[in-house]
Amino acid sequence: GIDRLDLDLGPRSYPILVGDGLIERAGALLRDRLPARRAFVITDENVAPIHLNPLLKSLQAGGIEAPHLILKAGESTKCLAVLEEVLETLIAVRTERSTTLIALGGGVIGDLTGFAAAVLLRGVPFVQIPTTLLAQVDSSVGGKTGINSRTGKNLIGAFHQPRAVLADTHTLDTLPRRDLLAGYAEVVKTALIGDAPFFAWLEANGQALLDGDGAARRHAVLTSCATKARVVAADEREAGQRALLNLGHTFGHALEAEAGFDSGLRHGEAVAIGLVMAYDTSVRRGLCPPQAAERVRAHLKSVGLPTRPGDIPGIDWPGADDLARHVAFDKKVKDGRPTFVLARDIGDTFLSQDLTPADIETAFAG
Ligand code: NAD
Ligand code: ZN
Repeated sequence: GIDRLDLDLGPRSYPILVGDGLIERAGALLRDRLPARRAFVITDENVAPIHLNPLLKSLQAGGIEAPHLILKAGESTKCLAVLEEVLETLIAVRTERSTTLIALGGGVIGDLTGFAAAVLLRGVPFVQIPTTLLAQVDSSVGGKTGINSRTGKNLIGAFHQPRAVLADTHTLDTLPRRDLLAGYAEVVKTALIGDAPFFAWLEANGQALLDGDGAARRHAVLTSCATKARVVAADEREAGQRALLNLGHTFGHALEAEAGFDSGLRHGEAVAIGLVMAYDTSVRRGLCPPQAAERVRAHLKSVGLPTRPGDIPGIDWPGADDLARHVAFDKKVKDGRPTFVLARDIGDTFLSQDLTPADIETAFAG
């Protein structure tokens, strides 16, 4: 069966469909949602050999004409040079305002395609078909699109909501273990920001989910999307509470940028380390009981996620002072002060601008 959630944004509301085998049904599911039976599929070199043909066949059966473009895989694809190549290709094939871009892939393809859709012809529709756990539980929902600048993560971007999200949980079967785990970090994040029972559920069922339990996967994708849809519907442009979804990310983004976007470090791995830093910092500031931070660290460790930069092999990390200085490049800096998400407990988080440069450096020093 297919589970359906709706992200409620008035006339721009859209469905999030979760289930096995949605790619094979994409043509039928999408044909009446597109302004015209014309689409353009963007994917990457790892996803294409596995999932592109079934999608193209199903679109064709639905009467949707869809050429495609295959990009190099990896975080370094989220850059201006590749965006330029994508936009020039779309313009050269005479894309019209009613042509829908379809992102088939992980968060990299989704973020880049969504941003291309936001700026091409001042905005064309797009659809997300997320094929990683990270993209299914987080990046495909909510309309944040963008690319990295040389110095920082996601510094070039736009809010642009998709017309639909089709999360085919079957695609997770082909995802490499390292990427599956990285996506799991965002599931843990979603639980930590405001859903203590879900965190307890993950402590009991997370391992089964990672080992391939389909029902557990669907439950985690649905629960995470439901939280995200609720938060985004209440605060689409991140004027307030949506920023809680950045738990662990101010630390994590500094790690990603300093490691380099071609280092192989996964976004979700940086987030896992950032979650631990956020909880440890909250404990140091006397805001959170140490047992809560210990539960976070123990759970991430138990499934095999990194909890300190040194857990990632092959990266030569700069000192804590350089990492701390990098925080100044984050989008969340206001009046020169970075905004952090801190914790009072599992499932109880809040925004704070109170961390001092020394607090931040101590966090990176571990
Ligand atoms: P990714 O897109 O690089 O995918 C990870 C790897 O898995 C890639 O090598 C990809 O080719 C491969 N892959 C994808 N699907 C596969 C499948 N079904 N089978 C086999 N291989 C497959 O990375 P990601 O972890 O999905 O996304 C990370 C990106 O998402 C980061 O750039 C991050 O900033 C962004 N993000 C955005 C938001 C948002 O709200 N827009 C939220 C969270 C993260
Ligand atoms: Zn993230």
